This record gives sequence, C-alpha cells and structure tokens, in this order.
Amino acid sequence: MTYTCACCDEVHDDLPDLSFDRPSYAADVPDDEFEARVKLNEDLCVVDDEFYFIRGVLKIPIHENEQDLGFGVWVSQKKENFETNLENYDTPDIGPFFGWLSNEFKFKGEPTLSLKTMAHFQGYGQRPLIELDESDHPLSVAQRNGISLDEAWKIVHEYLGR
Ligand SMILES: [Zn+2]
Repeated sequence: MTYTCACCDEVHDDLPDLSFDRPSYAADVPDDEFEARVKLNEDLCVVDDEFYFIRGVLKIPIHENEQDLGFGVWVSQKKENFETNLENYDTPDIGPFFGWLSNEFKFKGEPTLSLKTMAHFQGYGQRPLIELDESDHPLSVAQRNGISLDEAWKIVHEYLGR
C-alpha cells in the first residue's frame, strides 16, 4: 500500500521494521572486550555469562491498516527461562516469560529502556512476540490502543534520524 507521507511529502510503500542488532547492555561493552564478554547472534545474546537476552518482535497496531509497526527488540530473560527457550525453540508451549525491554529509543519523547514485558513464544522458527506491561508509558498505550498511519511514519522517520 502506498502512502503519501505527512512528514516528508514522499510516497512510501510498506513500513520498515525498526530493528536493533543487540541489546543496549551489549552495545555498551567496549570493542576490545566484546569478544571475551559477549556471545551474540541474531536471536540470542549473553553478556559475561550472567546477563541473558532474546530478540523478539514488538508490534504496534495501526488504525485502519493491515500492517503493524514492528520493532525488533531485545528483552532480558532470567537464565532458567533463557535455557528453557533454547531447549524448546520450536514449540509455542512455553512461557510467557518476563523480561526488561533492553533497547533504548525514544517513543513519543519517552525513553523505553527497562519497560516491563512478557515474551510470548510462537515456536516454528518465529521470534517471540513482546507484550508490554500495561502502563501509561506512550509505547504501552500505543500497543494497546494503536496509532495512526501518520504517527507510525513519524516514528519511522525519527528512528531513521531524518
Ligand atoms: Zn516520509
């Protein structure tokens, strides 16, 4: 679906997913210590054999639009749940598990680091869905109530820094 953008007046196609390639905690590790301290792939991250993270998809519904705005974000997991997920990655019959949102970005001006979440596992090679705890944080409100397509594109432009 094409959309004439209220931000930049250009015509856009589908919304991009806004993804983070690592949790903030791993991004803060200095380059010269990274290899020794961080294990990281596209879905899993362990720092110092002590802090465990998984990557999931946080979806924000858009009013009158089939496509959601999707954020590829990392959430922390306690070790026991991280290992349960590792051993049962192909089944949806685990969880949901608590985690802290582990990426820092601004959503409608409010920082997102350490919001409470639940990871809902989907199995079958799909990333878990991240559900925010119900609060008055704008990201939590947006996940419950949805946003307009204009707002979604505004957020995309903020994320892309233009
Ligand atoms: Zn635009």
